[in-house]
Amino acid sequence: MPLEPSRTVAELEELRALTGDDNGAQRVAWTSTWETARSWLRDRVQPTGAVETIDAAGNQWFTLRGQSERTLLIGGHMDSVPNGGWLDGCLNVVAGVEVLRRIAENGTPPLAVRLVSWADEEGARFGRSLFGSSAAAGSMRDQDELRKLSDRDGISLPDAMRDHGVELDRAIEARAELEGAAAYLELHIEQGPVLEGLDLPLGVVLGTFGVERSRFTWHGQAAHAGSTPMDARRDALAGAAKLALVIRDIARDVGDGAVCTSGGVVCRPGIVTSVVETAEQLLDQRHLDATKLARLLSLAREAADRFAEEENLTVDWERIWSIEPILFDPQLIELADEAIREVAGQSQRLPSGPLHDAAEVSRAGVPTVMLFVQSLRGLSHTRLEDTKREHLELAVHALDRLASKTLAQLS
Ligand SMILES: [Zn+2]
Repeated sequence: MPLEPSRTVAELEELRALTGDDNGAQRVAWTSTWETARSWLRDRVQPTGAVETIDAAGNQWFTLRGQSERTLLIGGHMDSVPNGGWLDGCLNVVAGVEVLRRIAENGTPPLAVRLVSWADEEGARFGRSLFGSSAAAGSMRDQDELRKLSDRDGISLPDAMRDHGVELDRAIEARAELEGAAAYLELHIEQGPVLEGLDLPLGVVLGTFGVERSRFTWHGQAAHAGSTPMDARRDALAGAAKLALVIRDIARDVGDGAVCTSGGVVCRPGIVTSVVETAEQLLDQRHLDATKLARLLSLAREAADRFAEEENLTVDWERIWSIEPILFDPQLIELADEAIREVAGQSQRLPSGPLHDAAEVSRAGVPTVMLFVQSLRGLSHTRLEDTKREHLELAVHALDRLASKTLAQLS
């Protein structure tokens, strides 16, 4: 059976009709609609002869036996956010089914090929993203916090999982699934505007951004808006305002895709008749290069100290959260570039702003790469999410080529 990418598009439409409504996709993890999507997937894979297993974290695996015990993994996620798009996550899985069909038809592959649908990538119901992949990667450390999570209706995460056969305390046993994994491939919609801007259907993902999240608290002096002369003010908002503007220059100077966002400033007392006494400012900075990420932060802190002096303020800095950049495998990046050039003529390398299951697998030491396919208008997590049909078909072709090249290189 030759590869039939148009079948993937037809199956994605079938899945949309089965698990969506007028507001979009409704495959939220640990719900009956998600379970419907999983059994739909089971029925699609069954004719290939791949054997289904569900691991301790609820990840759904389909394994096609190979000539060796080592495995090539292809993954995605069937879960969506509420009112989500028709492609986020499930494109990867459904395209993977088509690749599995083609490989099964060609006889026993040199390595075992495993398709995985990760459980609860989105974290839409309980706020914890990448649940299944972090369990399999062995990076899950927050079981105590997870135990306390509940949804809007007061249902706890452990209870919701138990309804789907998963015991939170045992989820980490999913680690065994990555033993023997020689490579991990993931196809995803870009969810951003870069490829569309370049008029290219496909790109290779170099890795996921490292993130630094900070809180700058500016301290000035509240004073009467009418009686305080302009040169006698200690206006905390002035410091925050200067920083909000200078981060654009900092991002431009550091370059290579650097992004900085001052996502919020809370002023106190926050009334129209007073100079601002304290301003709490949130800053999010991202880069694919760890050294450049550190530079983004140190430049912002130096600038903040300078502005504090200029405005006669003090400023405190606090790290809220951070994660290192995760770089994908250089050899697989080369193969992915080749695969894209063969099916689409031109390839583009780009970083990923969002985290993906692939980041967890990569962190676990499995050589990993991702393909992005163009998103129209850069929209995702909405029913407006879309990709041209011909681009979806090219994406299936590219994933299949990449799988073939990876198998050839590993055997
Ligand atoms: Zn996704």
